[in-house]
Amino acid sequence: MRLVLLGPPGSGKGTQAHLLQERCGLAHISTGDILRQAVRQNTPLGQVARPYMEQGRYVPDDVVNGVIAERFRRADRPERFVLDGYPRTRPQAEALDAVLHEVGLPLHRVVLLTVPDEELVQRISGRRSCPKCGAVYHLPRHPPQRENQCDRCGAPLVQRADDREEAVRERLRVYHATLPQVIDYYREQGKLIEINGLGAPQDIFQRLSDIVSADK
Ligand code: AMP
Repeated sequence: MRLVLLGPPGSGKGTQAHLLQERCGLAHISTGDILRQAVRQNTPLGQVARPYMEQGRYVPDDVVNGVIAERFRRADRPERFVLDGYPRTRPQAEALDAVLHEVGLPLHRVVLLTVPDEELVQRISGRRSCPKCGAVYHLPRHPPQRENQCDRCGAPLVQRADDREEAVRERLRVYHATLPQVIDYYREQGKLIEINGLGAPQDIFQRLSDIVSADK
């Protein structure tokens, strides 16, 4: 199974992709995670990406397309995977198809997680994460056991710069402006499925795995 997960920031794409990795053995490829790591390590990619990310804007298409093409051209490319946070624009969707065609690994499905904006703002503004091990918490819904401390590794939790309210509003604006092109692209290919992203992560995972197994 080769999947793309589409959805607004805060829709639970990362959580679902992580579950697909753990339970179905799909490689989880997240451009957001790759870019955040590059920013932390201050690599040339990170230096390009940082200003866009801090303002909640998209990193330019050619930059993210390059990251993904490099990942799939490597000899250790995964054959079963879930892409999380990529593609986000039509040129990205076209670039992805081109590279997957080149390596003989076409996509099977594109799943759109839908969640209303008011719910997203609530979810994102409470999100805190561990800069050391990447664990994610939510203050009212899934708080750490000790205030502001990671349960797994004890590091102090942080709020991502792009989870602050201004940046969240900008991320939602950009998402709504670019999503229709991506949706239309995959709808024309007959690969798009929509899933209601409201509810417990476990229930949403059930809906997702029903789709994955129906396609096998
Ligand atoms: P995410 O964790 O997927 O919400 O991504 C965090 C940030 O990384 C986004 O707000 C963008 O600035 C950047 N980013 C991640 N994936 C992409 C992409 N496919 N295209 C452009 N920018 C991206």
